[in-house]
Amino acid sequence: MTLDQLMARFATGDACKAYLVEMRWAQRVSCPRCGNKRVHILSRPWTWQCKKCSPNGYRFSPLVGTIVENTNYPLRAWFQVIYLMCQSKKGISALQIHRTIGSGSYRTAWYMCHRIRAAMQSDEFQKLTGVVEVHETYLGGKAKNRHGGGIGGGKNMYEGGRGTAGKTIVIGAIARKGNVVASLIENTKEATMVGFVRSVVSEKVKLVATDEHENYKDLGLPHKSVNHSRKQYVHVNVHTSNIDSFWSLLKRGMVGTFYKVSKAYLPLYLNEFSFRYNARKDADIFDHVIAGV
Ligand SMILES: [Zn+2]
Repeated sequence: MTLDQLMARFATGDACKAYLVEMRWAQRVSCPRCGNKRVHILSRPWTWQCKKCSPNGYRFSPLVGTIVENTNYPLRAWFQVIYLMCQSKKGISALQIHRTIGSGSYRTAWYMCHRIRAAMQSDEFQKLTGVVEVHETYLGGKAKNRHGGGIGGGKNMYEGGRGTAGKTIVIGAIARKGNVVASLIENTKEATMVGFVRSVVSEKVKLVATDEHENYKDLGLPHKSVNHSRKQYVHVNVHTSNIDSFWSLLKRGMVGTFYKVSKAYLPLYLNEFSFRYNARKDADIFDHVIAGV
């Protein structure tokens, strides 16, 4: 579906609501709070009432529990923004969104993007199995702390550079052909890095592939490392090229579209990029974001 097709399909707020109803309650409208199927339709449009879970009757609309609940922005604007964020592999900035949909203000577009990013948090997390790659990377940092190697002379926080001082550390694990999990970490102490691995990787993992960082030596899991400095990249199964590709995508997104992302918001961007990666084969990604279903 193209953006034009999307806009034609969801030309009115009613069309958006009808879609939410159909998606959430394909068979029969039921109470989102208690699941009761004997609900009553009220005269107010798109409103139902459940008398089972509240003595005075609980009133609800198809928006309840979705990210579009309690907002003043038109539903069709939300639908468009969600569509754009799901479609754009490298991410799309609030400014681009503002220009594309003609939202009231840049601030509005920015707010919507952040709310959508928060909704992209995966709530059904499963520990990674099979062959899992783990690698950390650095984002940002001050130009003066770099030892050369910065791309373009450091005009932007999220460009490369080898120095690590003042940078934000992000660690990630990716199951081959499976999901990615990425997280901000405060330091590169062994307990921190091992703690991350143990919290996201299953005990039943076949192999954990890392670089030769000494902190990965005692993971307590089947483990092999590659020596990047000796260019031993592809040692049968032992490489970290999938997680490294993910970092490249994230960094390109940061440089290209998210000029100056503050550290406080970085977890939201990690959500967004991880969500899109993990939903890459999922045709219903749009539905998942919009209604959390
Ligand atoms: Zn109820």
